[in-house]
Parts: sequence; structure tokens; C-alpha cells
Amino acid sequence: MSDSTNAINAFAVRLAAIQARIDIACRRAGRSSADVALLPVSKTFGTELIRDAAACGLRRFGESRMQEVREKAGQLTDCPVDWVVIGHLQTNKAKDAAALAAEVQSLDRLDLAQALDRRLSAEGRVLDVLVQVKTSDEPSKFGLDGAALPDFLRTLAADYPSLRVRGLMTLAVNSDDEQAVRACFRRLRTLRDAARADGLVADAWRTAGDQGGLDRLSMGMSGDFELAIEEGSTEVRIGSALFGARDYSAT
Ligand SMILES: *Cc1c(COP(=O)(O)O)cnc(C)c1O
Repeated sequence: MSDSTNAINAFAVRLAAIQARIDIACRRAGRSSADVALLPVSKTFGTELIRDAAACGLRRFGESRMQEVREKAGQLTDCPVDWVVIGHLQTNKAKDAAALAAEVQSLDRLDLAQALDRRLSAEGRVLDVLVQVKTSDEPSKFGLDGAALPDFLRTLAADYPSLRVRGLMTLAVNSDDEQAVRACFRRLRTLRDAARADGLVADAWRTAGDQGGLDRLSMGMSGDFELAIEEGSTEVRIGSALFGARDYSAT
């Protein structure tokens, strides 16, 4: 076998192991595996690994920095990839995001919504977004304050028609305390349910098969995705457990 076939097979084994863990967590929670998507997070990993992953059927990849998306997209023009922005997005990068991202999960403030909407409407494009909500007290985490979510959704619905809000995203507290981690995930789900009950879901945000709008809850990473699935995650963002340990010095 060639080296690249070996690399693809090695990735397929890791992917199957993660999928098996997702399946087990779903079964434990009485949920269907079809209701929990895997978002592979490729930040800091090279395009060879992304090619291996694409050869295994993956197409959406989570990235944190627009600069990195730009570089990787330039190297992968022959490989269909949908870039999903999951990291803090500076307002001055809205133009890049509007041009290159298939989706933004880290929408957390109005000046960013405005900048994205302006760029998107210039391109005649509608972008799927998730609103990132802060569900822990950790000072370093980005995200909208949960109490501000209703007004934020009202403004998005009224003023930014190029953004289609599909759900919410969060990072749980980084802690060994399982209950504290679960509480973050539960908070996100509760906020979503309240937004639905309060009629804050614009008709334009709904897609076929949605239950009540804002269906998507992007929560859970390598260290906590099984808990997130038990708390209602529809999408787990997994980097290191799939691709290996990250080396930030290389980026
Ligand atoms: C890096 C990152 C992930 C993936 O982290 P792992 O622990 O490697 O799975 C998920 N979500 C966000 C927002 C990230 O920045």
C-alpha cells in the first residue's frame, strides 16, 4: 500500500473510534446517532490530514482563524471543503468570513453581525450562523451573555437578513467537575428552549426538518462530548481526539 493509503486507513480507524463513542453516548441518552453530527476541528493540523479526512467522507471542517482558512483553502482548491468558523472572529475579518466560510458558529456580538451582513448582502449570499453563548464564568471565554440572547435574536431577525440563525454554540467550563460541565450544556439548551417559547425564531431561519427552529446546539469537544450528547448536543466539535495532539508552535 502507498503511504497515502496507509494515512487514510489510519485516519479511518480514528474516525471509526470516535463515531463508536458518539454512538454509545447516543444509546445511553436514548437518542439516535443520526441526530448528532461530528464536526472535525482541523485548526493547527495540515492539509494532508484534511485530505485524509475528506477521503473518509468528511467535508465540513472547523477552524478558528480566518488566516488559516485562507491558507488551507488555497492549498485545497481540488478538494471540496466547507469551512466552519468556530473561533473568535474579529470584525475586520468579516469580509474574509463572508467570502470563505460555509458557516460561522462564533457570532457573539452585533458589530460582527452587522459587518457580516453587509458583506453578505453585497455578495447576495445568506450564511448559516450559530450564536455563541457564554455558559460559564471563565473570564477567557468569548460569547454572548445568556441574558442578552433574547434582544440579540430580535435584532438579528429584524435587521440582518443575510444571517440565518440555526442554533446556539457554547464551550463548557474546562473542569473535571462533571456536574459543572453538564450545567453549561444544560444552560445552552434551556436558553434555546426559552427562545422558542418566547417566539424569537424568525420564519426565515427555519429549514426543512426543523423541530421548532434554532434546532442546532453545537456543544461538546474532545474532553466532554459524551456529556454534551447526554445533555442534547446536536453537533460535537472534535479536534485532538480525532487528529492527535495540537502543536501551536507550528502555526
Ligand atoms: C479547538 C476547538 C475545539 C476542539 O477542541 P478539542 O479539545 O481538540 O476537541 C472545539 N471547539 C472550539 C470552539 C475550539 O476552538
